Amino acid sequence: MADTACPVVKSEWKTTLAHEKGAGAACRVCGPKCEGLDLHFWRKICKICKCKLEDHEVKIEDFNIQHSILKNLLTLNDGTTVFQRSKLALSQLEASPAEIEAAKKNFMFMPEGTNPQTISKYMAALPKEKAPHLTEEGFNYRQKQLLQQLPAHDFDDTYCDDLSDKEKQKMKDFNRKRNEEASGQGAIKEHVDTTDRVWDCVNCNQKLHAGDVAIFAERAGPDKCWHPECFVCSTCNELLVDLIYFYKDGNIYCGRHYGELTRVRCAACDELIFTKEYTQAEGRSWHIKHFCCYECDKELGGQRYVAKDDHPYCLDCYGRKYAKVCNKCHDKIPPDAKRVTYKELHWHASEACFNCNKCIMNLLGKQFIFKNNNVFCSADCARSFSSGR
Ligand code: ZN
Ligand code: ZN
Ligand code: ZN
Repeated sequence: MADTACPVVKSEWKTTLAHEKGAGAACRVCGPKCEGLDLHFWRKICKICKCKLEDHEVKIEDFNIQHSILKNLLTLNDGTTVFQRSKLALSQLEASPAEIEAAKKNFMFMPEGTNPQTISKYMAALPKEKAPHLTEEGFNYRQKQLLQQLPAHDFDDTYCDDLSDKEKQKMKDFNRKRNEEASGQGAIKEHVDTTDRVWDCVNCNQKLHAGDVAIFAERAGPDKCWHPECFVCSTCNELLVDLIYFYKDGNIYCGRHYGELTRVRCAACDELIFTKEYTQAEGRSWHIKHFCCYECDKELGGQRYVAKDDHPYCLDCYGRKYAKVCNKCHDKIPPDAKRVTYKELHWHASEACFNCNKCIMNLLGKQFIFKNNNVFCSADCARSFSSGR
């Protein structure tokens, strides 16, 4: 029964839309407050809680794209892919099936030249919460890092929001260049011989000792190595997931941050931008079509908007969600209206609202006395108001 069901599941998987992947997954940040992941069509965040895809407990199997990314990414000069090398590495292991299983769990693709003993040493060198096989925490960390460091939409245009043919071509060129000129997977090697040349970590400059394991990155040169815990992205400082690195000018990066060395990323859809024209606002970059209200997705190009927590809102949505209430008339103050703010209280900046609470004298631009959450023109008015006279 299970056998006959399998092909159906597979073909179904292929037709699953990108934004349906991981649907319903619980949010690690919001807990029960989020009913489960409902991925926004192009923002790559949850429509319900607005947290990122990778903040949800998605199963990485749902994102087979990461497999194909790595598979296509790491093709050596001899034409072998990391996938093939990984298979070879596994077949050459002198280890028990249980040890091989454990090694497979730690990496989507086995780094070159590994054996279970070096892998164990490598794992032991990592912070416990980040070593994939030790704890559930480590396992979750790896899943999150895969999605964060190798975003599907940086590698495959079918995960992007409606690119033009020109954009697709530019992305293809960018991908080819990145994969051919910068990508690699670190190799784990054990420092066996003390008479060997000195091994210094590129990151911390400390010496490695006999028996230590180090990560070597082919693109950086044969004499460059890192402590396992030092093999991090130069931008985000996170451990490079599955030892996948991208090399540029002496530094190693994760896929996400390598892309950002030469391209800007849209603050709304999280994709790299492959058009000449884009919007710059609030210190960030946006596809023109993605400079939209964070609440209702209305396009804001040429429109008035309000920024809150780095997200633009149309005036209507902002008003509905965040408008301040006037301390005098208790109506909402439109986001584009002038207002007076004092001690976290707000007033319409009008004579009708910002006036002495006793004698109604206009206080706009004048000194005032603040008492019992009200404003007064003078100590006398404040006193007589509070004594009820
Ligand atoms: Zn990074
Ligand atoms: Zn965008
Ligand atoms: Zn709106």
